[in-house]
Amino acid sequence: MIDNRSGKGLSFVRRIYLPRIIGLGIGLFAVMAAIAPLNPPTWAWALLLLNGLVWPHAAYLWALRSATPYQAEQRNILLDSLMGGFWTAAIHFNPLPSVTILSMMTMNNVAAGGKRVLLRGLFAQLCGMLLATALLGTGLQTQATQLQVLACLPMLTLYPLALGWVCYQLAIKLTEHKRRLSALSRTDSLTGLLNHGSWKDLLLLKFQICQQQRLPAVIALIDIDHFKTINDTYGHVVGDCVLRQLSQELKRSLREDDLAGRYGGDEFCVILPGTHEAQACQAMERLREHVAAYRNPHLPGLRISLSIGLADFRPGLASPEHWLEQADKALYAAKHQGRDQVNFARGEAATLRLAYPD
Ligand code: GH3
Ligand code: MG
Repeated sequence: MIDNRSGKGLSFVRRIYLPRIIGLGIGLFAVMAAIAPLNPPTWAWALLLLNGLVWPHAAYLWALRSATPYQAEQRNILLDSLMGGFWTAAIHFNPLPSVTILSMMTMNNVAAGGKRVLLRGLFAQLCGMLLATALLGTGLQTQATQLQVLACLPMLTLYPLALGWVCYQLAIKLTEHKRRLSALSRTDSLTGLLNHGSWKDLLLLKFQICQQQRLPAVIALIDIDHFKTINDTYGHVVGDCVLRQLSQELKRSLREDDLAGRYGGDEFCVILPGTHEAQACQAMERLREHVAAYRNPHLPGLRISLSIGLADFRPGLASPEHWLEQADKALYAAKHQGRDQVNFARGEAATLRLAYPD
């Protein structure tokens, strides 16, 4: 029930409201001009006014209050078609108003539900025609007067405008949704940083740029020391806070061009484009010190230390994976050498140790 009333159903009902007010309101002139010379009974005039002026609002409220607004609106669209067919037969198929009403209605049906609503709508129009013939009799009016031509003009000009406007608004909304979904699919939900996949995509991109333009760049892998112990001691909620805290610190301390992501678990990754070894070491050392100095008055015993592995781009690297492997080795060495330090990868073998634990 709740699902049916939310999202698609209600927005569909709201989207159709204005085009229906405009379409039926101005379609009224076309039918009035064509039906008047045929001297219809009073009840037909009353029905016409109700259909043109009251029905759009009644249909809106009926669908809005329905437990299943989407289905209710589909029913309303069929009733529109039924009445459209009814009026074309009631005006004895006067060519211009009939074609105007049926074609605008068909355009609306296709826009609302594609082939399915188109076919159902055509069937409903046929039923409407049969109903009108049964109630008002048959007839064929092949000539349209000048007044009848003029009465069709608002419908022919304004209704496509309204429908086009609604479709345009829908297209804008869809583009915005697509943009938001795409951003969401690239973001780590806990930290708001890039997720593993999108960071790796950017790594490949930066790797290619570095290769083509011979630009310097450094990547960093950052891992929280003994994070499992933090989780075990203070609980996973505090663990999550620590992860968020670190991501905040990363966002604060990095430049706009630097690309920070969550590699997974308690491991973070950064691309520092246009950066040389010394600058990268300084930046990461600053980050390590900031995080180490972090104190929480509610958890006085909580300490956070980081091990960071760095690797610079070298033209000899075969792929981004090799580059990443260098940073990973530097991180492994940092862990191995006592944690709480920044290590810079130097070829396959040695690593530079910038800070030593006490
Ligand atoms: P080391 O110093 O060697 O890195 O030790 P560690 O305890 O940090 O490393 P380990 O890989 O053993 O532990 C990582 C822990 O991170 C294990 C896992 O339960 C925890 N973890 C992974 N993702 C999340 C998360 O999203 N939230 C929390 N709170 N914990 C997480
Ligand atoms: Mg860890």
